[in-house]
Amino acid sequence: MRPVLMFDYDGVIVDSLDYFLDSFLEACHEHGFHQMDSREAFLTIFDTNMYTGMVAAGIPEDQVYPVLISMGKKLEGRNRNGLFFPLMADTMNQLAQSCRVIVITSNLTPIVAESLHVNGVHCAEAVLGSDIEPSKVKKIRSVIGDANESPCYYIGDTVGDMVEGREGGAKTVAVAWGWHSAERLRTAAPDHMVHSPEELAALFRPIAALPPT
Ligand SMILES: [Mg+2]
Repeated sequence: MRPVLMFDYDGVIVDSLDYFLDSFLEACHEHGFHQMDSREAFLTIFDTNMYTGMVAAGIPEDQVYPVLISMGKKLEGRNRNGLFFPLMADTMNQLAQSCRVIVITSNLTPIVAESLHVNGVHCAEAVLGSDIEPSKVKKIRSVIGDANESPCYYIGDTVGDMVEGREGGAKTVAVAWGWHSAERLRTAAPDHMVHSPEELAALFRPIAALPPT
């Protein structure tokens, strides 16, 4: 049984915090919201699901999507070259030789699919963005439901990812090179924590080599 590796995108595959933060704050300002004007306030949104975090920060529920649509337009116009973390393309392609690879993200499917393609990652079976379904929990559950009891992992870089991954039924892997620090991620008690793409590859080497059960 091939393990199923579900990857978050922002902060795991691409170094997108500054690029994302600028577009998000500009979009909030456009819609009259100024309560998240710091990096820390922004990062706090990701202690939970992004949508829940925005509402908790004082953005009315019916304004969340308009803000995100504005942000998406700004992101489309920005140069995304060079955002890939070094070694992540090679690591994902290498892992795909023994594991199934799926990307589950709050970003938009076409943006992520193009980024993977341009950077030489052709191994992802699917990219499931927030335009397909905003809840990572639902997407993770759906993948696990089709996984025929293969071991399933969610690989993320925020406390919210760990919470949603666990709620969705996956084993959680925290990467310490993303938006939330290792210290912050530890508060969510992930099943595994890795500090480099090499460590990520090493984590799954023995799991992938297990005989079918
Ligand atoms: Mg992330």
